[in-house]
Amino acid sequence: MNPKHKHILRTFLTGSLRLAEFAVTNVCIAKCTFCAIWKQTPKVFVAKEKALLAIDKLADLGVSHITLTGGEPLMHPNIIAFVSKCTSRNIYNTVLDAAPSLITDDRLDLLDEAGNDMISISFDSEDPKVLEESRQIPHIMRDVEDAVKRIKRTRIKSMASILIWNNNHDQMEKVFAKATDMGFDLISISYPTFSESVVYPLGGEGISLSRDLVIKSLESIIELKKRKRYPIVNSRVSMENIIRYLKDPSTVRYECLGGSRVMFVDWFCEVRPCMQLPQVLGNILTMTKDDFETVPCNKCNMSWYRDFSTFFYGVKSFPVYWESIASSKGFF
Ligand code: SF4
Repeated sequence: MNPKHKHILRTFLTGSLRLAEFAVTNVCIAKCTFCAIWKQTPKVFVAKEKALLAIDKLADLGVSHITLTGGEPLMHPNIIAFVSKCTSRNIYNTVLDAAPSLITDDRLDLLDEAGNDMISISFDSEDPKVLEESRQIPHIMRDVEDAVKRIKRTRIKSMASILIWNNNHDQMEKVFAKATDMGFDLISISYPTFSESVVYPLGGEGISLSRDLVIKSLESIIELKKRKRYPIVNSRVSMENIIRYLKDPSTVRYECLGGSRVMFVDWFCEVRPCMQLPQVLGNILTMTKDDFETVPCNKCNMSWYRDFSTFFYGVKSFPVYWESIASSKGFF
């Protein structure tokens, strides 16, 4: 077990484990049909010194897993310093990426040296034209293929981040097959979510699926994970929980722990329970443990928050731990 995994285990066993998404900029190259962040003004990059202090503070508060996101985090001039800071605090770190042309050889080497654990690339269709249109980035399929190949020569894992949307909900197997053929180590599924958040608006025509269609898609994914053993990190338990939520929110087995165990930190270092909710819990630079929410929430089906929350329910979480250990392909 490497030091970061040990650290996650230690914070988990001592009850202090938390996970954070840290959006280091709202600038993005992609113009996705289901995300409006690229339209935001003014354009903001978190200041380097502030972000480094924020990561230290997150570590002090038990955060052992950070997803560096944006916008496009690779456009931040100090992204390597942020990854390095995470590593120096034993924090497992993932960098999200929507524009794989930014994964240049030089940047990849620096990320590897800094101890980046995973690069998660948006990948929503096996069809180059559809992918290009949904992200509004020319030649993106070629760039994804090239990036995944080059990531293979480093210690960094690659993950295909696949959103269930209008174009792929009934043909997930084709998308999974393409992702694995291309050499992605892991696959993560994002559930379609609408958000009118001031900080992170999500939605749009591209994800205007009925609940029934999302349920069918999730059922097909659970089946494919079981039958074809695709390396999908979302646990079956969590996907079934989302199906319950979509059928009748009052029947979920695991509520969301946004604001207590999982959180969203924006480019001003303000902490919210998630991207969805407007309330600010505080600025991470001045927050204490007492500022975190303790009331579980069940207002939406956002993947990252809901999936990780299932790990914090004691005995009820045993099936999640078991699945994660058995597949050796859990989130960590
Ligand atoms: S359920 Fe949705 S709205 Fe509520 S905290 Fe979780 S991600 Fe946020």
